[in-house]
Amino acid sequence: MVGAMMNARKRLAEAGLRVTAQRIAVLESIPAGTHAEVDQVARAVRSRLGTVSTQAVYDVLHALTRAGLLRRIQPAGRPTLYENRVADNHHHMVCRSCGRIDDVDCVVGDAPCLDPFDAHGFAIVEAEVVFWGTCPDCGPADPTVGDSGAALGASSTATVPAAPESEPR
Ligand SMILES: [Zn+2]
Ligand SMILES: [Zn+2]
Repeated sequence: MVGAMMNARKRLAEAGLRVTAQRIAVLESIPAGTHAEVDQVARAVRSRLGTVSTQAVYDVLHALTRAGLLRRIQPAGRPTLYENRVADNHHHMVCRSCGRIDDVDCVVGDAPCLDPFDAHGFAIVEAEVVFWGTCPDCGPADPTVGDSGAALGASSTATVPAAPESEPR
């Protein structure tokens, strides 16, 4: 816990942000590998600090995102999520059935990892790739479910392969 606290303080200081209890609590409520909704973050912050308004939590999340300490993701039809994995151009796999979200490394690396057929003169900064499918716990993907992928940027729909029939022994 002490180590995590130091880590949050250090990250704030290195980003040039004033170290406040609210900022530390927000950072520590979003551990590595998680994608947290604002409500979850607000509950975690309140359990540590008592009364904190939802607006205050939003303000902290926006400040930390602007400073590059958090990344905001918004898969279509899902609440806005925050994560602390900010140093790379990774993508997300979303289970249509249970909503599970996994990080997935980009096979290309740097953004943008997809080029449009015709850029129309745009300076393309990023291709937003979301893989929609069904996680191993929810069974094989239903091919009849329509695509409601990301509305902005490039959208890519892929089927997440089901778990193998039998595990190798
Ligand atoms: Zn699932
Ligand atoms: Zn992620």
